[in-house]
Amino acid sequence: MTETLDISITKNQNSRLAQTDFENLPFGRTFSDHMFVADYADGEWKAFQIVPYGNISMSPAISSLHYGQSFFEGLKAYKHVDGKVSVFRPYMNAARFNKSAERLCMPQLPEDIFVQSIAALVDIDSNWIPTKAGHSLYIRPFMFATDPFLGVQPSQTYKYMVLAGPVGPYFTKPLKVKIETHFSRSTEGGFGYAKAAGNYGGAMLPSRKAVEEGYDQLIWTDSKEHAYMEELGAANVMFILDGKLITPSTRDTILKGVTRDTVLQLARDWGYPVEERRVSVAEILEGAKNGKLTDAFGAGTAATIAPIGVIEHEGNVYTLPDPTQREFSKKVLKTLDEIRYGVTADPYGWNYMV
Ligand SMILES: *Cc1c(COP(=O)(O)O)cnc(C)c1O
Repeated sequence: MTETLDISITKNQNSRLAQTDFENLPFGRTFSDHMFVADYADGEWKAFQIVPYGNISMSPAISSLHYGQSFFEGLKAYKHVDGKVSVFRPYMNAARFNKSAERLCMPQLPEDIFVQSIAALVDIDSNWIPTKAGHSLYIRPFMFATDPFLGVQPSQTYKYMVLAGPVGPYFTKPLKVKIETHFSRSTEGGFGYAKAAGNYGGAMLPSRKAVEEGYDQLIWTDSKEHAYMEELGAANVMFILDGKLITPSTRDTILKGVTRDTVLQLARDWGYPVEERRVSVAEILEGAKNGKLTDAFGAGTAATIAPIGVIEHEGNVYTLPDPTQREFSKKVLKTLDEIRYGVTADPYGWNYMV
């Protein structure tokens, strides 16, 4: 860390902690007592504050609402078995935050400001970190344009904020997924690699159609031929095919996940053959038919490791091996949990201690 960030803190005098039901935490609906706010104006970040979580007042003309200069990050804080608190790999998110900012013509945020803002918020709201297995404090940093101006041009002013809230497991059963062969999430030359708000708005109609057809999620394919795997909803997708861990190589249509990177590192260290390359829909379906596809899962911060139980492609339905019997995804989830909850050593330095 460079110098410590000068943050003005206003404590919440009406904590909602005691009224919060930690046995029932649907994702993204419960927020901790505080939030972090900073403003960008005159070419610099200023006014670093922690204030009680609550509404903010803005002009209805702010350009983020009209032209989409808005993006976010997602990461998690964990309470260790010995009571210590860590955030998982926040500098990876800090670097990706700035990639998203660059693509949307928005200002860079120094990585230390990103990490220190999160550490300060997690510290003040550390009582909000659940201790139950599979639970954590989800952290949502985001930036949006605030110029009250309807001209289509980059804003001169922005807000950076961080919210936090306790969460349980995102998916509770194996996923039924549909391989999308009509809609696209992103295109070459586009901004699928950024966590831009607009990417998620554009994905909602195709996702809802899949849900109406009885599926939990889509597997996105390349926009040109719909012949290559890209992502699983808002998670990266991984397969064990013929004893090898296979995942689409990242490109401008694919979000480069921290979880993806983490799983690849573990697999390599365990001596698994790993292939990052274009992954065709045909080879995965062939593997599902001949039994060489032994595991398939989504990898992401919110979803963690989410096993795929059923894949549909153009009317054909393929059932994959029973997730409770899968070697790789079970081992990777167990190892990840042990590191994140401080049960075992953290040889990679992934836990940022708060
Ligand atoms: C956030 C996200 C992921 C997963 O990234 P993590 O860093 O592992 O959380 C994957 N794909 C998309 C589209 C995402 O938005």
